[in-house]
Amino acid sequence: MYIVQIASECAPVSKVGGLGDVVYGLSRELEIRGHTVEIILPKYDCMRYDHIWGLHEAYNDLWVPWYDGAIHCTVDCGWVHGRLCFFIDPHSEDNFFNRGCYYGSSDEQMRFAFFSKAALEFLLRTNKRPDIIHCHDWQTGLVPVLLFEIYKYHGMENQRVCYTIHNFKHQGAVGTNILAATGLNNEPYYYSSDRLLDDNHPCLNLMKAGIVYANFVTTVSPNHAWEARHTDVGCGLGHILYVHQHKFSGVLNGIDYDVWNPESDRYIPHPYSRANIQGKIQNKKALRDRLLLQDADKPIICYIGRLDNQKGVHLVHHAMYYALNRGAQFVLLGAATEKKINSWFWHEKNHLNDHPDCHLELGFNEELAHLIYAGADMIVVPSNYEPCGLTQMIGLRYGTVPIVRGVGGLVNTVFDRDYDQDRLPEKRNGYVFYQTDNQALESAIERAIGLWHRYPKEFRKLMLQGMEYDYSWNHPGADYVGIYDYIRHR
Ligand code: ADP
Repeated sequence: MYIVQIASECAPVSKVGGLGDVVYGLSRELEIRGHTVEIILPKYDCMRYDHIWGLHEAYNDLWVPWYDGAIHCTVDCGWVHGRLCFFIDPHSEDNFFNRGCYYGSSDEQMRFAFFSKAALEFLLRTNKRPDIIHCHDWQTGLVPVLLFEIYKYHGMENQRVCYTIHNFKHQGAVGTNILAATGLNNEPYYYSSDRLLDDNHPCLNLMKAGIVYANFVTTVSPNHAWEARHTDVGCGLGHILYVHQHKFSGVLNGIDYDVWNPESDRYIPHPYSRANIQGKIQNKKALRDRLLLQDADKPIICYIGRLDNQKGVHLVHHAMYYALNRGAQFVLLGAATEKKINSWFWHEKNHLNDHPDCHLELGFNEELAHLIYAGADMIVVPSNYEPCGLTQMIGLRYGTVPIVRGVGGLVNTVFDRDYDQDRLPEKRNGYVFYQTDNQALESAIERAIGLWHRYPKEFRKLMLQGMEYDYSWNHPGADYVGIYDYIRHR
């Protein structure tokens, strides 16, 4: 199959969060399976150009219809760690992608509506006719609308669209001027509840547009797919997902097993594996040395992730003090975007600065993240909501036992050692709690610390059971190929 991904991010060249990881990781897996993949991205001024090989101009005469005129674009092309990427570079006063950052502009919807239109125009003009167009999140929700309402009538009648939602929170609410801009010239037709009209506000909704028009819609875990339809996690899209339930499902994300591999990880001093777990103990020592923690008979509990409300930041904070009170060490690596949360954790960092059992590292640090995954005994993930979650899967890969709240993809990946009724004891891999109060978290941490102290052999068994799980792109890759095949032949 010939697959084109259209997205606003791709790791590591333009990565803000999990979306970038998925676009890269899935594309790589599809290629390993023998498919041809190309990725279309905006050409941001702030991209990591050092991750692009052989960047050159591929097409210099792309005129993208926009309002009553057209915007001239060039399209550059290069390889991002083996993936062939095309970068759309518009030349207009709008300066859509030269803002010094990926997101956060006031004309955000217009920027990505233009990108969606430009990507299709590029495919049309260069005679690229993929079997599948896979697009992601609200930024590219207009792609299937434009394809089936306009481009289909210009020779693109055989293309099929898979649309993946990574975060329901941001949906691309926008006024009707976007219709005139993109050539969807029939306002009453699109401004209707069975097409683009938001179900709760008097505006258009680009994520809803993607759901209505795509041939298949996915979100990033089976449990999150259920939550989106039946709970407020769908942020108002539950009804439209119900209407289109026949073409909606959850496919669990994978993690890149080349990047996240304790046997070959270049950021950890002592490689290890399931068969030879000794290195993990040495990495624990290296982590302590690096962070100036005391060498004591204590487990290390870690948190790695954004510090915001989605991630249950109050529970992260509580986990830290509870762990310290219960004879454990705690290591936190995280960055906050909200000012209030940022100063809160800086205050904690200063307060705990000389504590021999605690270290807070505030900021983004890829290299340190690897050492923490390798050196910690447990990782806590107390999210309020979590579409899929990668840190628990990385933890499992590194023999770091996850303690998670039972929401979203965490439910599909972590199975409670003591209470999971659906799995045999030898298939369980962590600890799960459900409520958002401190006590729920405490009881899960208590069970984990208790096992570590009193039954070290059992704890080690639990670690090894977790390491046995395969959360690579292998299974999700097969699932997506199944979806592509299904929509191609309908
Ligand atoms: P998100 O909601 O942020 O996408 P995920 O769990 O899906 O959360 O993915 C988080 C990814 O970002 C993981 O690979 C994690 O290791 C990494 N990460 C998060 N915060 C940091 C940080 N401060 N430093 C280094 N890596 C981080």
